[in-house]
Amino acid sequence: MGERFDIVVVGGGIVGLATARSLRRHRPEDSLALLEKEPELAAHQTGHNSGVIHSGIFYAPGSLKARLTREGRAELLAFCAAEKIATRPTGKLVVASDASEMPALDRLMTQARANGVPGVMRLDRPAMDAAAPGVAGVAALWVPSTAIVDYPGVAQRLGRQLEAAGVRVSRGAEVTAAEPRPDGWHLETGAGGLDARFIVNCAGLDADLLARRLGTDPTVSIVPFRGDYYELEGTPRSGIHALVYPVPDPRFPFLGVHLTPTVRGTVLAGPNAALALDREGYHRGAVDGRELVRLAEFPGVWAMLRRYPGMAAHEWLRSWGREEFLYAIRKLWPSVELEDLGARYSGVRAQAIRPDGTLEEDFVLRPGPHALHVINAPSPAATASFAIAEEVVRAAGFAGAVRE
Ligand SMILES: Cc1cc2nc3c(=O)[nH]c(=O)nc-3n(C[C@H](O)[C@H](O)[C@H](O)COP(=O)(O)OP(=O)(O)OC[C@H]3O[C@@H](n4cnc5c(N)ncnc54)[C@H](O)[C@@H]3O)c2cc1C
Repeated sequence: MGERFDIVVVGGGIVGLATARSLRRHRPEDSLALLEKEPELAAHQTGHNSGVIHSGIFYAPGSLKARLTREGRAELLAFCAAEKIATRPTGKLVVASDASEMPALDRLMTQARANGVPGVMRLDRPAMDAAAPGVAGVAALWVPSTAIVDYPGVAQRLGRQLEAAGVRVSRGAEVTAAEPRPDGWHLETGAGGLDARFIVNCAGLDADLLARRLGTDPTVSIVPFRGDYYELEGTPRSGIHALVYPVPDPRFPFLGVHLTPTVRGTVLAGPNAALALDREGYHRGAVDGRELVRLAEFPGVWAMLRRYPGMAAHEWLRSWGREEFLYAIRKLWPSVELEDLGARYSGVRAQAIRPDGTLEEDFVLRPGPHALHVINAPSPAATASFAIAEEVVRAAGFAGAVRE
Protein backbone atom coordinates (compact mmCIF):
# COMPACT_ATOMS: atom_id res chain seq x y z
CA MET A 1 0.00 0.00 0.00
CA GLY A 2 1.41 3.41 -0.93
CA GLU A 3 0.16 6.95 -1.23
CA ARG A 4 -3.14 7.24 -3.09
CA PHE A 5 -3.88 9.62 -5.97
CA ASP A 6 -7.07 10.23 -7.92
CA ILE A 7 -5.17 10.58 -11.20
CA VAL A 8 -1.60 9.67 -12.13
CA VAL A 9 -0.01 10.84 -15.40
CA VAL A 10 2.93 8.70 -16.53
CA GLY A 11 5.50 10.61 -18.60
CA GLY A 12 7.21 13.94 -18.10
CA GLY A 13 7.43 14.95 -21.76
CA ILE A 14 5.42 17.86 -23.13
CA VAL A 15 2.28 15.75 -23.69
CA GLY A 16 2.24 14.41 -20.11
CA LEU A 17 3.00 17.82 -18.64
CA ALA A 18 0.33 19.58 -20.71
CA THR A 19 -2.14 16.81 -19.78
CA ALA A 20 -1.41 17.26 -16.08
CA ARG A 21 -1.96 21.01 -16.54
CA SER A 22 -5.36 20.43 -18.18
CA LEU A 23 -6.35 17.91 -15.51
CA ARG A 24 -5.44 20.39 -12.76
CA ARG A 25 -7.60 23.03 -14.43
CA HIS A 26 -10.63 20.75 -14.98
CA ARG A 27 -10.36 18.75 -11.72
CA PRO A 28 -8.89 21.09 -9.12
CA GLU A 29 -10.14 18.94 -6.22
CA ASP A 30 -8.49 15.71 -7.42
CA SER A 31 -5.10 14.62 -6.10
CA LEU A 32 -2.73 14.42 -9.05
CA ALA A 33 0.76 13.03 -9.61
CA LEU A 34 3.07 12.95 -12.63
CA LEU A 35 5.71 10.21 -12.79
CA GLU A 36 8.85 10.59 -14.92
CA LYS A 37 11.44 7.84 -15.04
CA GLU A 38 14.41 10.08 -15.82
CA PRO A 39 16.06 12.43 -13.32
CA GLU A 40 14.90 15.37 -15.51
CA LEU A 41 11.75 16.25 -17.44
CA ALA A 42 11.77 16.34 -21.27
CA ALA A 43 14.67 13.86 -21.55
CA HIS A 44 13.42 12.08 -24.68
CA GLN A 45 11.37 13.27 -27.69
CA THR A 46 10.53 16.63 -26.12
CA GLY A 47 14.23 17.32 -25.59
CA HIS A 48 15.42 16.02 -28.99
CA ASN A 49 13.36 17.67 -31.71
CA SER A 50 13.45 20.48 -34.29
CA GLY A 51 11.73 23.09 -32.14
CA VAL A 52 9.13 23.92 -34.80
CA ILE A 53 5.66 25.23 -33.99
CA HIS A 54 3.93 23.74 -37.00
CA SER A 55 1.28 25.61 -38.96
CA GLY A 56 -0.80 22.54 -39.87
CA ILE A 57 -0.41 22.33 -43.67
CA PHE A 58 0.93 18.77 -43.76
CA TYR A 59 -1.98 16.88 -42.17
CA ALA A 60 -5.06 15.29 -43.75
CA PRO A 61 -8.13 17.55 -43.42
CA GLY A 62 -10.46 16.22 -40.76
CA SER A 63 -7.69 14.35 -38.93
CA LEU A 64 -6.90 14.84 -35.25
CA LYS A 65 -3.47 16.09 -36.34
CA ALA A 66 -5.04 18.86 -38.46
CA ARG A 67 -7.47 20.03 -35.75
CA LEU A 68 -5.21 19.65 -32.71
CA THR A 69 -2.28 21.36 -34.44
CA ARG A 70 -4.49 24.37 -35.22
CA GLU A 71 -5.87 24.53 -31.68
CA GLY A 72 -2.64 23.55 -29.93
CA ARG A 73 -0.38 26.04 -31.70
CA ALA A 74 -2.68 28.90 -30.67
CA GLU A 75 -2.66 27.76 -27.02
CA LEU A 76 1.09 27.15 -27.04
CA LEU A 77 1.80 30.61 -28.45
CA ALA A 78 -0.51 32.18 -25.86
CA PHE A 79 1.25 30.23 -23.06
CA CYS A 80 4.69 31.30 -24.28
CA ALA A 81 3.57 34.94 -24.54
CA ALA A 82 2.12 34.85 -21.01
CA GLU A 83 5.22 33.13 -19.60
CA LYS A 84 7.69 35.23 -21.61
CA ILE A 85 9.19 32.17 -23.33
CA ALA A 86 10.84 33.21 -26.60
CA THR A 87 9.18 32.17 -29.85
CA ARG A 88 10.11 33.45 -33.32
CA PRO A 89 7.67 33.65 -36.27
CA THR A 90 10.18 32.61 -38.92
CA GLY A 91 7.72 31.34 -41.55
CA LYS A 92 8.43 28.37 -43.79
CA LEU A 93 9.15 27.69 -47.47
CA VAL A 94 8.07 24.35 -48.92
CA VAL A 95 10.16 23.92 -52.05
CA ALA A 96 9.34 21.99 -55.24
CA SER A 97 12.70 20.88 -56.63
CA ASP A 98 11.44 20.33 -60.17
CA ALA A 99 8.28 20.23 -62.27
CA SER A 100 7.45 16.68 -61.15
CA GLU A 101 6.78 17.98 -57.61
CA MET A 102 4.35 20.72 -58.69
CA PRO A 103 1.17 18.62 -58.38
CA ALA A 104 2.12 17.72 -54.81
CA LEU A 105 2.81 21.40 -54.05
CA ASP A 106 -0.65 22.26 -55.39
CA ARG A 107 -2.22 19.56 -53.22
CA LEU A 108 -0.47 21.02 -50.18
CA MET A 109 -1.91 24.46 -51.02
CA THR A 110 -5.43 22.97 -51.16
CA GLN A 111 -4.80 21.13 -47.89
CA ALA A 112 -3.54 24.30 -46.22
CA ARG A 113 -6.80 26.06 -47.16
CA ALA A 114 -8.90 23.11 -45.93
CA ASN A 115 -7.01 23.14 -42.61
CA GLY A 116 -7.56 26.89 -42.18
CA VAL A 117 -3.84 27.78 -42.24
CA PRO A 118 -3.72 31.55 -42.80
CA GLY A 119 -1.70 33.53 -45.34
CA VAL A 120 -0.22 30.65 -47.41
CA MET A 121 1.08 31.97 -50.75
CA ARG A 122 2.45 30.36 -53.90
CA LEU A 123 5.86 31.81 -54.90
CA ASP A 124 7.36 31.59 -58.37
CA ARG A 125 11.12 31.62 -58.89
CA PRO A 126 11.58 35.43 -58.87
CA ALA A 127 9.49 35.69 -55.70
CA MET A 128 11.63 32.96 -54.10
CA ASP A 129 14.78 34.94 -54.93
CA ALA A 130 13.28 37.97 -53.21
CA ALA A 131 12.11 35.99 -50.14
CA ALA A 132 15.16 33.75 -49.62
CA PRO A 133 18.09 34.34 -51.98
CA GLY A 134 20.04 31.08 -52.10
CA VAL A 135 17.08 28.72 -51.94
CA ALA A 136 16.80 26.03 -54.66
CA GLY A 137 13.73 24.86 -56.57
CA VAL A 138 11.27 25.92 -59.24
CA ALA A 139 8.39 27.10 -57.01
CA ALA A 140 7.49 27.18 -53.33
CA LEU A 141 4.74 27.71 -50.82
CA TRP A 142 5.29 30.46 -48.26
CA VAL A 143 3.71 29.60 -44.90
CA PRO A 144 4.01 32.65 -42.66
CA SER A 145 2.50 31.12 -39.50
CA THR A 146 5.30 28.60 -38.82
CA ALA A 147 7.35 29.55 -35.76
CA ILE A 148 10.14 28.18 -33.56
CA VAL A 149 10.47 27.65 -29.80
CA ASP A 150 12.58 25.81 -27.23
CA TYR A 151 10.35 22.85 -26.22
CA PRO A 152 12.50 21.73 -23.26
CA GLY A 153 12.12 25.30 -21.93
CA VAL A 154 8.32 25.04 -22.24
CA ALA A 155 8.40 21.65 -20.47
CA GLN A 156 10.49 22.94 -17.56
CA ARG A 157 8.10 25.87 -17.10
CA LEU A 158 5.09 23.54 -17.12
CA GLY A 159 6.80 21.35 -14.52
CA ARG A 160 7.38 24.31 -12.19
CA GLN A 161 3.77 25.51 -12.64
CA LEU A 162 2.41 22.06 -11.83
CA GLU A 163 4.47 21.84 -8.64
CA ALA A 164 3.30 25.30 -7.64
CA ALA A 165 -0.31 24.13 -8.23
CA GLY A 166 0.10 21.20 -5.85
CA VAL A 167 0.76 18.42 -8.38
CA ARG A 168 3.28 15.83 -7.22
CA VAL A 169 5.97 15.74 -9.95
CA SER A 170 8.22 12.74 -9.26
CA ARG A 171 11.43 12.37 -11.21
CA GLY A 172 13.37 9.09 -11.20
CA ALA A 173 9.99 7.34 -10.83
CA GLU A 174 9.83 4.70 -13.55
CA VAL A 175 6.67 2.65 -13.49
CA THR A 176 8.08 -0.90 -13.36
CA ALA A 177 5.00 -2.92 -12.39
CA ALA A 178 1.23 -2.51 -12.19
CA GLU A 179 -1.41 -4.56 -10.38
CA PRO A 180 -5.14 -4.09 -10.95
CA ARG A 181 -7.26 -3.15 -7.94
CA PRO A 182 -11.08 -3.02 -7.82
CA ASP A 183 -10.97 0.77 -7.90
CA GLY A 184 -7.83 1.46 -9.97
CA TRP A 185 -4.21 0.40 -10.02
CA HIS A 186 -1.29 -0.19 -7.72
CA LEU A 187 1.95 0.97 -9.34
CA GLU A 188 5.50 0.11 -8.38
CA THR A 189 7.93 2.85 -9.35
CA GLY A 190 11.60 3.63 -8.94
CA ALA A 191 10.52 6.02 -6.18
CA GLY A 192 8.22 3.61 -4.28
CA GLY A 193 4.67 2.25 -4.60
CA LEU A 194 1.46 4.22 -5.02
CA ASP A 195 -2.20 3.71 -5.82
CA ALA A 196 -4.11 5.46 -8.57
CA ARG A 197 -7.83 5.59 -9.31
CA PHE A 198 -7.01 6.49 -12.94
CA ILE A 199 -3.86 6.51 -15.05
CA VAL A 200 -3.08 8.60 -18.13
CA ASN A 201 -0.31 6.96 -20.13
CA CYS A 202 1.86 9.60 -21.84
CA ALA A 203 5.00 7.44 -21.91
CA GLY A 204 6.02 8.40 -25.46
CA LEU A 205 8.46 5.82 -26.83
CA ASP A 206 7.26 3.30 -24.20
CA ALA A 207 3.52 4.00 -24.42
CA ASP A 208 2.72 0.63 -26.04
CA LEU A 209 4.72 -1.27 -23.38
CA LEU A 210 2.98 0.57 -20.55
CA ALA A 211 -0.45 0.02 -22.13
CA ARG A 212 0.18 -3.75 -22.20
CA ARG A 213 1.34 -3.64 -18.59
CA LEU A 214 -1.97 -1.93 -17.77
CA GLY A 215 -4.04 -4.64 -19.45
CA THR A 216 -4.70 -2.94 -22.79
CA ASP A 217 -3.68 -4.31 -26.17
CA PRO A 218 -2.74 -1.18 -28.12
CA THR A 219 -3.13 -3.17 -31.42
CA VAL A 220 -0.10 -1.26 -32.78
CA SER A 221 3.54 -1.27 -31.69
CA ILE A 222 5.82 1.68 -31.33
CA VAL A 223 8.77 1.46 -33.66
CA PRO A 224 11.64 3.87 -33.06
CA PHE A 225 12.84 6.01 -35.98
CA ARG A 226 16.04 7.92 -35.32
CA GLY A 227 16.38 11.38 -36.83
CA ASP A 228 19.89 12.79 -37.21
CA TYR A 229 20.73 16.48 -37.48
CA TYR A 230 23.80 18.48 -38.40
CA GLU A 231 24.31 22.02 -37.24
CA LEU A 232 25.10 24.16 -40.25
CA GLU A 233 28.25 26.21 -40.10
CA GLY A 234 29.91 28.56 -42.59
CA THR A 235 28.40 31.20 -44.84
CA PRO A 236 25.13 29.51 -45.94
CA ARG A 237 23.91 29.59 -42.33
CA SER A 238 23.73 33.40 -42.21
CA GLY A 239 21.29 33.45 -45.17
CA ILE A 240 18.74 31.05 -43.70
CA HIS A 241 16.10 32.93 -41.73
CA ALA A 242 13.00 30.85 -42.49
CA LEU A 243 12.45 27.09 -42.36
CA VAL A 244 13.03 25.37 -45.70
CA TYR A 245 11.25 22.04 -46.36
CA PRO A 246 11.07 19.72 -49.35
CA VAL A 247 7.65 18.64 -50.61
CA PRO A 248 7.05 15.65 -48.29
CA ASP A 249 6.43 12.16 -49.63
CA PRO A 250 2.71 11.65 -48.85
CA ARG A 251 3.27 7.92 -48.15
CA PHE A 252 5.15 8.67 -44.89
CA PRO A 253 4.43 10.83 -41.86
CA PHE A 254 8.04 12.11 -41.87
CA LEU A 255 8.65 15.48 -43.48
CA GLY A 256 12.08 14.91 -45.05
CA VAL A 257 15.43 16.56 -44.28
CA HIS A 258 14.81 20.29 -43.85
CA LEU A 259 16.57 23.44 -42.65
CA THR A 260 15.46 24.94 -39.36
CA PRO A 261 16.73 28.06 -37.62
CA THR A 262 16.53 27.61 -33.83
CA VAL A 263 15.82 30.09 -31.05
CA ARG A 264 19.44 29.56 -29.95
CA GLY A 265 20.61 31.16 -33.22
CA THR A 266 21.86 27.95 -34.87
CA VAL A 267 20.53 26.37 -38.08
CA LEU A 268 19.75 22.62 -38.10
CA ALA A 269 19.77 20.39 -41.16
CA GLY A 270 17.75 17.20 -40.68
CA PRO A 271 16.21 14.96 -39.48
CA ASN A 272 16.26 11.82 -41.59
CA ALA A 273 14.14 8.87 -40.39
CA ALA A 274 16.13 5.65 -39.96
CA LEU A 275 14.66 2.54 -38.31
CA ALA A 276 16.46 2.44 -34.93
CA LEU A 277 17.43 -0.56 -32.82
CA ASP A 278 17.15 1.27 -29.51
CA ARG A 279 14.20 3.39 -28.35
CA GLU A 280 16.52 5.69 -26.46
CA GLY A 281 19.64 5.38 -28.61
CA TYR A 282 20.95 8.79 -29.56
CA HIS A 283 23.89 7.63 -31.65
CA ARG A 284 24.08 5.65 -34.86
CA GLY A 285 25.47 2.37 -33.50
CA ALA A 286 22.99 2.13 -30.59
CA VAL A 287 21.48 -1.35 -30.16
CA ASP A 288 19.27 -2.51 -27.30
CA GLY A 289 18.95 -6.31 -27.18
CA ARG A 290 15.36 -6.26 -25.87
CA GLU A 291 14.34 -3.84 -28.62
CA LEU A 292 16.01 -6.00 -31.24
CA VAL A 293 13.92 -8.98 -30.08
CA ARG A 294 10.73 -6.88 -30.00
CA LEU A 295 11.34 -5.62 -33.54
CA ALA A 296 12.19 -9.09 -34.85
CA GLU A 297 9.02 -10.57 -33.27
CA PHE A 298 6.66 -7.86 -34.54
CA PRO A 299 5.24 -8.78 -37.96
CA GLY A 300 4.54 -5.09 -38.68
CA VAL A 301 8.27 -4.36 -38.97
CA TRP A 302 8.80 -7.08 -41.58
CA ALA A 303 5.68 -6.01 -43.43
CA MET A 304 6.89 -2.39 -43.40
CA LEU A 305 10.32 -3.37 -44.73
CA ARG A 306 8.66 -5.37 -47.54
CA ARG A 307 6.26 -2.51 -48.29
CA TYR A 308 8.87 0.29 -48.34
CA PRO A 309 12.26 -1.39 -48.99
CA GLY A 310 13.68 1.64 -50.86
CA MET A 311 12.78 4.08 -48.09
CA ALA A 312 14.23 1.88 -45.35
CA ALA A 313 17.54 1.35 -47.16
CA HIS A 314 17.86 4.98 -48.23
CA GLU A 315 17.23 6.38 -44.74
CA TRP A 316 19.63 3.87 -43.18
CA LEU A 317 22.36 4.86 -45.65
CA ARG A 318 21.68 8.53 -45.07
CA SER A 319 22.23 8.10 -41.34
CA TRP A 320 25.78 6.86 -42.02
CA GLY A 321 26.88 8.89 -45.05
CA ARG A 322 27.43 12.64 -44.79
CA GLU A 323 27.39 12.83 -48.61
CA GLU A 324 23.87 11.34 -48.71
CA PHE A 325 22.77 13.93 -46.19
CA LEU A 326 24.45 16.74 -48.13
CA TYR A 327 22.61 15.66 -51.29
CA ALA A 328 19.24 16.17 -49.53
CA ILE A 329 20.31 19.54 -48.13
CA ARG A 330 21.57 20.79 -51.49
CA LYS A 331 18.17 20.14 -53.05
CA LEU A 332 17.03 22.95 -50.74
CA TRP A 333 20.14 25.13 -50.42
CA PRO A 334 22.77 24.42 -53.11
CA SER A 335 25.65 26.44 -51.64
CA VAL A 336 26.08 24.16 -48.58
CA GLU A 337 29.41 22.28 -48.65
CA LEU A 338 30.44 19.12 -46.82
CA GLU A 339 32.59 21.12 -44.38
CA ASP A 340 29.52 23.22 -43.44
CA LEU A 341 28.02 20.17 -41.69
CA GLY A 342 29.06 20.73 -38.08
CA ALA A 343 28.04 19.09 -34.81
CA ARG A 344 25.74 16.13 -35.15
CA TYR A 345 23.02 14.98 -32.81
CA SER A 346 19.89 12.82 -32.92
CA GLY A 347 16.36 12.34 -31.68
CA VAL A 348 14.20 9.21 -31.72
CA ARG A 349 10.57 9.35 -32.86
CA ALA A 350 7.88 7.11 -31.37
CA GLN A 351 5.95 6.00 -34.44
CA ALA A 352 3.13 3.47 -34.07
CA ILE A 353 3.00 0.78 -36.75
CA ARG A 354 0.10 -1.59 -37.43
CA PRO A 355 0.69 -5.35 -37.73
CA ASP A 356 0.19 -5.02 -41.53
CA GLY A 357 3.20 -2.68 -41.74
CA THR A 358 1.31 0.58 -42.34
CA LEU A 359 2.37 3.59 -40.33
CA GLU A 360 -0.30 5.08 -38.07
CA GLU A 361 -0.83 8.53 -39.60
CA ASP A 362 -2.90 10.18 -36.90
CA PHE A 363 -2.66 10.73 -33.16
CA VAL A 364 -4.17 7.73 -31.34
CA LEU A 365 -5.78 7.60 -27.89
CA ARG A 366 -6.99 4.25 -26.48
CA PRO A 367 -9.17 3.73 -23.41
CA GLY A 368 -8.35 0.89 -21.00
CA PRO A 369 -9.47 -0.24 -17.56
CA HIS A 370 -9.14 2.81 -15.25
CA ALA A 371 -6.77 4.33 -17.82
CA LEU A 372 -6.38 6.28 -21.04
CA HIS A 373 -3.40 5.66 -23.28
CA VAL A 374 -1.80 8.20 -25.64
CA ILE A 375 -0.48 5.57 -28.04
CA ASN A 376 0.66 7.60 -31.04
CA ALA A 377 1.88 11.14 -30.49
CA PRO A 378 4.78 11.77 -32.87
CA SER A 379 5.33 15.09 -34.66
CA PRO A 380 3.54 17.54 -34.51
CA ALA A 381 2.56 16.46 -30.99
CA ALA A 382 4.81 19.06 -29.36
CA THR A 383 3.00 21.81 -31.30
CA ALA A 384 -0.37 20.20 -30.54
CA SER A 385 0.40 19.20 -26.93
CA PHE A 386 -1.95 21.66 -25.21
CA ALA A 387 -4.84 20.58 -27.45
CA ILE A 388 -3.96 16.86 -27.13
CA ALA A 389 -4.19 17.42 -23.38
CA GLU A 390 -7.74 18.77 -23.67
CA GLU A 391 -8.66 15.86 -25.95
CA VAL A 392 -7.31 13.40 -23.35
CA VAL A 393 -9.29 15.07 -20.57
CA ARG A 394 -12.48 14.84 -22.67
CA ALA A 395 -11.83 11.23 -23.71
CA ALA A 396 -11.22 10.25 -20.08
CA GLY A 397 -14.50 11.89 -19.04
CA PHE A 398 -12.80 14.46 -16.81
CA ALA A 399 -13.84 17.62 -18.66
CA GLY A 400 -15.54 20.11 -16.39
CA ALA A 401 -15.61 23.83 -15.84
CA VAL A 402 -12.07 25.21 -16.07
CA ARG A 403 -10.69 27.10 -13.09
CA GLU A 404 -7.90 29.45 -14.20
C1 LIG B 1 13.74 14.15 -34.32
C2 LIG B 1 12.40 14.71 -33.92
C3 LIG B 1 11.97 15.95 -34.41
C4 LIG B 1 10.74 16.46 -34.05
N1 LIG B 1 10.39 17.74 -34.41
C5 LIG B 1 9.23 18.26 -33.95
C6 LIG B 1 8.89 19.63 -34.20
O1 LIG B 1 9.69 20.39 -34.73
N2 LIG B 1 7.68 20.08 -33.79
C7 LIG B 1 6.78 19.26 -33.15
O2 LIG B 1 5.68 19.72 -32.85
N3 LIG B 1 7.10 18.00 -32.86
C8 LIG B 1 8.29 17.49 -33.22
N4 LIG B 1 8.64 16.21 -32.89
C9 LIG B 1 7.69 15.40 -32.13
C10 LIG B 1 7.66 15.79 -30.66
O3 LIG B 1 8.96 15.96 -30.14
C11 LIG B 1 6.93 14.68 -29.92
O4 LIG B 1 5.72 14.41 -30.61
C12 LIG B 1 6.58 15.09 -28.49
O5 LIG B 1 7.74 15.54 -27.82
C13 LIG B 1 5.99 13.91 -27.77
O6 LIG B 1 5.91 14.23 -26.40
P1 LIG B 1 5.59 13.10 -25.35
O7 LIG B 1 5.43 13.76 -24.04
O8 LIG B 1 4.49 12.25 -25.88
O9 LIG B 1 6.88 12.13 -25.40
P2 LIG B 1 8.29 12.26 -24.68
O10 LIG B 1 8.83 13.63 -24.76
O11 LIG B 1 9.14 11.18 -25.25
O12 LIG B 1 7.98 11.97 -23.16
C14 LIG B 1 7.60 10.68 -22.68
C15 LIG B 1 8.19 10.56 -21.29
O13 LIG B 1 7.72 9.38 -20.67
C16 LIG B 1 8.76 8.89 -19.85
N5 LIG B 1 8.49 7.48 -19.57
C17 LIG B 1 8.49 6.44 -20.45
N6 LIG B 1 8.22 5.29 -19.83
C18 LIG B 1 8.02 5.59 -18.52
C19 LIG B 1 7.71 4.79 -17.37
N7 LIG B 1 7.52 3.45 -17.45
N8 LIG B 1 7.60 5.41 -16.17
C20 LIG B 1 7.78 6.76 -16.07
N9 LIG B 1 8.08 7.57 -17.13
C21 LIG B 1 8.21 6.97 -18.35
C22 LIG B 1 10.01 9.11 -20.68
O14 LIG B 1 11.19 9.11 -19.91
C23 LIG B 1 9.72 10.46 -21.32
O15 LIG B 1 10.25 11.55 -20.60
C24 LIG B 1 9.89 15.70 -33.21
C25 LIG B 1 10.33 14.47 -32.69
C26 LIG B 1 11.59 14.00 -33.02
C27 LIG B 1 12.08 12.73 -32.37
